[in-house]
Amino acid sequence: MPTELLFREDAYLRTTTAQVLAVGERGIELTRTIFYPLGGGQAGDTGTLRRADGSTVPVIDTRKGEGPDRVVHVPAAGAAALTAGESVTLEIDWPRRYRLMRLHTALHLMSCVVRAPVTGGNIVPERARLDFDIDLNQLDAEHIERETNALIAAGVATETVWITDAQLDAQPELVKTMSVAPPRGAGQVRLLRIAGIDLQPCGGTHVANIGEISGIKVVRVRNEGKHNKRVEIVLSDNG
Ligand SMILES: [Zn+2]
Repeated sequence: MPTELLFREDAYLRTTTAQVLAVGERGIELTRTIFYPLGGGQAGDTGTLRRADGSTVPVIDTRKGEGPDRVVHVPAAGAAALTAGESVTLEIDWPRRYRLMRLHTALHLMSCVVRAPVTGGNIVPERARLDFDIDLNQLDAEHIERETNALIAAGVATETVWITDAQLDAQPELVKTMSVAPPRGAGQVRLLRIAGIDLQPCGGTHVANIGEISGIKVVRVRNEGKHNKRVEIVLSDNG
């Protein structure tokens, strides 16, 4: 049974209530969730589930389940076993998630600064990286950092847009402007638009305004393979 994915419409939800749908070997499924499951390179959320008696079950990771819109909340070893049907209050580790949102949105901007196909990516709370199919000598850390920070300073709002496969087919020029081809077959695709800067399919969590990123530092540029030239960043106010 699918879970209602509240983070898709509002990435800023820190708490909500839900009922336990099922408890399996991999973890706990809920009627709805604010926990983002590992995907698109972005780490899964952590946090807690609070029971009616006030006790808590720590959630150490969140993963996709065995079907569309299914999410598994991974409990800490030795945590109390929840029962199907019981109500819980969800709380995500917000400072951690907010760093992930800022870094994730920063990668969207960096993918506009470096004009090359993206061949990989990863976002953890401490740092984020993108791999590009480009010659290493075309990646100038100082230039990437300066241009990305210039975009951040523009303080543009981000916007989630749902578009149907039929609408995409009717607008081939739209697909051409995207750095990543949108997936087809689910009926509709979720896009992130940063007006005047970027439009691309993405299921992750983003900040509402790119100004919230504040600034980034490029900490490393290196060769990770023929088609993988890696640029790693941190938030500039994050050490
Ligand atoms: Zn994204």
